[in-house]
Amino acid sequence: MAKKSQWRKLRDECDDFFSLLVRARDGFACTRCGKYKGLGPFLHASHLIGRSNYAVRWDLRNVWAQDNGCHRYFGSQNHHEYFDWVRQRIGPQNYAGLMQLAQNGRRGRAQWTVDDLTDLRQALLEALQTYTEVLHTAGGAHGYTRLMRQVLGI
Ligand SMILES: [Zn+2]
Repeated sequence: MAKKSQWRKLRDECDDFFSLLVRARDGFACTRCGKYKGLGPFLHASHLIGRSNYAVRWDLRNVWAQDNGCHRYFGSQNHHEYFDWVRQRIGPQNYAGLMQLAQNGRRGRAQWTVDDLTDLRQALLEALQTYTEVLHTAGGAHGYTRLMRQVLGI
């Protein structure tokens, strides 16, 4: 059982790092309407293909920062539009690659080991280091979160 809780802790950390990475990549603004939201609960890392598909759960092509309104808009009745929107945004080749991975990748959680998640966590931390300026700007304006302090080493 100890192993399971370690797995879950790592998985949740990967989720937290990845969500921060998506929002940092998108400049803490909504990618649909462009509104700047900064840190806080009003900007979501919105999955095109849901998180239950682990092959694309942490894929930057699959997840985009959206504010409450746009997250709701793309969420259910207009979800097909979100597919079109992503294809336009990343181009047909990247889109095809994303769909391919979603079909044929490691979709199940059981296909991800503690070692895999450890590697992923490290890769996400390194990716976040390329956004330190964006993180400092957002943190300076709104206050640094515990997660940001951990990422920035402050
Ligand atoms: Zn929006």
